[in-house]
Amino acid sequence: MDDLLGLVGHAEARASLDHCLKCTICETQCPVAAVTPLFPGPKYVGPQAERFRADGSVDHSVDYCSGCGTCTLSCPQGVKIAELNSQARAAMKADHMTVRDRIITQTIAMGKLMTPVAPLANAALRVRPLRVAVEATLGIHRDAPMPKATSQTFMAWFRKRPVPSAPAPRGPVVFFHGCAGGYFEVETSKMTVEVLEHLGYRVVVPEQGCCGLAQQSNGLFEQATAAVLALCDRLRSAGSDLPIISSSGSCTGMLKHEAREIMGVSSEALRDVGLRIRDTMEFLRELHEANALDTSFRRQDTTVVYHAPCQLKGQAMGLPAIDVLSLIPGVTIVESEVACCGMAGTYGLKKEKHAVAQAVGEPLFTLIRDAAPELVLCDTETCRWQIREATGLPVEHPISLVHRAYGLSATRARRADPGAPSGA
Ligand code: SF4
Ligand code: SF4
Repeated sequence: MDDLLGLVGHAEARASLDHCLKCTICETQCPVAAVTPLFPGPKYVGPQAERFRADGSVDHSVDYCSGCGTCTLSCPQGVKIAELNSQARAAMKADHMTVRDRIITQTIAMGKLMTPVAPLANAALRVRPLRVAVEATLGIHRDAPMPKATSQTFMAWFRKRPVPSAPAPRGPVVFFHGCAGGYFEVETSKMTVEVLEHLGYRVVVPEQGCCGLAQQSNGLFEQATAAVLALCDRLRSAGSDLPIISSSGSCTGMLKHEAREIMGVSSEALRDVGLRIRDTMEFLRELHEANALDTSFRRQDTTVVYHAPCQLKGQAMGLPAIDVLSLIPGVTIVESEVACCGMAGTYGLKKEKHAVAQAVGEPLFTLIRDAAPELVLCDTETCRWQIREATGLPVEHPISLVHRAYGLSATRARRADPGAPSGA
C-alpha cells in the first residue's frame, strides 16, 4: 500500500495509532457516525482497522468518513485518525475510482467550461430532468448544492480594472484565490483585493492553479501532489519572501498542513508556502495584534451567524473571523459551534452520501433558521454553497462585512452609479 501513499505522511500517521487509549472521545465527536449506521466511527475505522491493513485490504466503510478532521482535533492522544482514513481511502480507491469522482475533482475545468456560458449553465443546473439524468448516470445527487457560474473570472476582472492610483506604502502581498475564488466565488476575491489595497498593500496575483484538495479528498494522491507542487512554484514565482493571502480556508489548510500530513509531500516549496500563507481573516487579525489594522470601521447594525469550517479549525488558529468582526461596531455575531455543515468539499455532492451530508448539517441549518440572521458568514466556498442551498439565506465570506464596514461596497456602488448614496 505504501507505494500509493506519501511515505512521510503515512509513516507519521501510522506511528500515532499506538497512542490510542480507546477512550472513544473521537466516537462521540464524529458528526458522520452520529447520523448513520453506515459508518462505524473513527476509532474503529481509524486506529483499530489500520492495524490490519498491512495486506492492503481496506474496509469500504472508510469511504463514509467525510474527512472533516473533527476526530483528529478531539483526540487527546494525538492520533491522526482523519489522516489515516484519507490514506486508507486512497489505497482503496486505487482499484475503485469512479468516473464521477474524477470529474468532480476537475474544478478549474468546470470553471472554464461554465464561465463563457454562465447564464445558460446556471439555468441548466436548475432543470430537474437534467439533474435526475446526471444523478442516474454520474451519481451526483439531484439536490446537491452547485456552484453558481459568473460571466467574468476573477483574473479577467483583475487584469481589466484600472491600476489603483493610491500609493501602496506597505508594499506587495501575493493573493491566492483558489479555483472557486477564480471562477465561482469571484466577488469574495474582488473584495479581498479591495480590502488589502485599502490597507495599503499592492496586490500581486500570479498565474495559479488548483491546490489539489478535491483530488486529495477523493483519493487521487498522485494528481493532488502534482497540483499542489505546481501551485507552490507559481506562488513562489511572485516573490520569495512576500506574505501569501488566501481567501479560501480549505485551500489554506491544504497548503499549510494537509498535503504534508495526509499525502506526505515534503518539498521545500511546500514548506515555504505553508509558512508564508495566511487565511484572509488570520492576516487581518495579525495586523490588529501588531496595531497595524485600520479599525475605523463604519457602524453595521446587523446580526450574523458565523460558521467556522472544518478545514479552518484544523489549522489550530482559533477563530480569526470572530476576532476581526468583533471590532466592527454594531455587529452581533452568533457563533454556530456546530462541528460540520456536512458538505466536506465534494462529499455532499455524491448520490450515496447526500442524505448523510444533509443530516450532518441539519443542526447548523436549524440554528441558522432559528437565529434568522441577515447574513451567514463562512470562510470556505463549498460550505457556503451547502448552507445557501439548505437555508435560502445569503451566505458570504467574512471579508464581505469588513469590506462593507470600510465603506468599500459603497465606493464601488458609487463608481458604478455616481448617484448612489455614500453610506455603508
Ligand atoms: S480519541 Fe484518540 S485515544 Fe480516544 S479512542 Fe479515539 S483515537 Fe483512540
Ligand atoms: S474525519 Fe470527520 S467524519 Fe471522518 S472519522 Fe473523523 S470526525 Fe468522523
